[in-house]
Amino acid sequence: MDTQMLIGSALVAGTETEEQVLNPRTGEMIISLPEASLAQVEAAVDAAERAFVSWSRTTPAQRSGYLLKLADRIEAEAATLAGLEALNCGKPGHLALGDELPAIVDCYRFFAGAVRCMPGPVAGEYLAGHTSMIRRDPIGVVASIAPWNYPLMMMAWKIAPAIAAGNTVVFKPSEQTPLSALKMATIFADILPEGVVNVVLGRGETVGSALINHPKVAMISLTGDIATGRKILEAATKTVKRTHLELGGKAPVILFDDADVEAAIEGIRAFGYYNAGQDCTAACRIYAQDGIYEKFVAGLSDAVSTIQLGHADDSLNEVGPLISPRQRDRVASFVERAREANHIEITAGGEMPEGPGFFYKPTVIAGALQTDEIVRREVFGPVVSVSRFSDVEEAVTWANDSVYGLASSVWTRDVSKGLSVAARLQYGCTWVNTHFMLTTEMPHGGMKQSGYGKDMSLYALEDYSVVRHVMVAL
Ligand code: NAD
Repeated sequence: MDTQMLIGSALVAGTETEEQVLNPRTGEMIISLPEASLAQVEAAVDAAERAFVSWSRTTPAQRSGYLLKLADRIEAEAATLAGLEALNCGKPGHLALGDELPAIVDCYRFFAGAVRCMPGPVAGEYLAGHTSMIRRDPIGVVASIAPWNYPLMMMAWKIAPAIAAGNTVVFKPSEQTPLSALKMATIFADILPEGVVNVVLGRGETVGSALINHPKVAMISLTGDIATGRKILEAATKTVKRTHLELGGKAPVILFDDADVEAAIEGIRAFGYYNAGQDCTAACRIYAQDGIYEKFVAGLSDAVSTIQLGHADDSLNEVGPLISPRQRDRVASFVERAREANHIEITAGGEMPEGPGFFYKPTVIAGALQTDEIVRREVFGPVVSVSRFSDVEEAVTWANDSVYGLASSVWTRDVSKGLSVAARLQYGCTWVNTHFMLTTEMPHGGMKQSGYGKDMSLYALEDYSVVRHVMVAL
């Protein structure tokens, strides 16, 4: 197991407080890792700043070559990386390998291609005797800060577009899930020029805070909680840094009477509980219309009760545990508070299974009202609420009545209804008759307090570059 951070070209251990990294399936400690000192954070930012001088002047084709090498190496080491992700996050290993690793490899390959064909406006004479052109140039040192739910994928979403665009990066994984990032540190050290990507370990309030407040950091990219996003914005004001924020979600799912109920049940069974619901796009807030409500709740509850977890034979598992005892207890407390309301019925799950690890049973909470906490707040666990609605206006109003604005879906056999509702939803993404499906060519990001940074797609290259005007007097 790799345990060292990457600062410049040096693989080094942190020198400060040790943080325990837990195996969420067993609750046991995997390893204890020291976090970076402030001097090491300083050295990482300095290395990134030095590397920017030459990296920012490489051609797109040169950077593309490096990204393709990274993709090939990740593909070659996919089993090891998936194994680390499964160990550290508790994910079923076959899903980490089969679902996540191909998407991660594809992310590096996409940006390797995309940076070579950035579209843009024409150059021309907009003032007589002068030629103007628009450039998109790199920004500088990017501090990238990732959460624990998809450590490697968030790393790919952040690092690939940032370095493709010519920036250099200091990356901090979540203190709870550093293992795959430390493996990636060795891959970056092998393939990239010194200092282009640096990896430092530590907690948010120490290493994270030092990074986001660093005057030489030009941009901060965070995927995390809204509260952390606010801290980033406050820190950014001091030296007017750019920010790229992806801050959680509470995805509404509108099921109309004319939806294919069986497909919806199968869909929510998959998309509401994948990664134990620790997913900012999880289909967790269902609005089912009167005519199908009873059938949907009964069908979903039966389907969810069959979700496989906690088997010693990992190939049987469909979901894993929560990331930590804290997260599991948080999820349990949401369910307990919901249970107290007379109008709510818990029709599946609603408890922790016997045995070790931070597991929580996939749960369906039926009869939830728009005012209920379970409908309003992000649980970030295997818990889906179902509320009943009567007409389109009610469904759209309730769906939009949220501080979050990341993902949403509409289920109907009527294409016109699907598209007209999709047009009215205030979410960065709306799926029709599916949920959760992502593709690297399309942007992923939010509205409202879910943030405004776009991951993947050409929009991420735009986010990680700056528009400049160059004018020549003829
Ligand atoms: P978090 O905000 O607690 O932590 C995210 C990262 O921020 C961690 O690396 C943490 O160490 C760091 N951090 C915390 N405080 C900091 C500070 N003061 N300064 C600098 N860095 C700091 O979030 P989490 O619990 O790791 O992840 C779960 C959250 O992430 C959920 O709210 C989830 O919805 C969100 N999320 C969003 C997306 C998206 O694409 N929008 C994707 C995944 C997760």
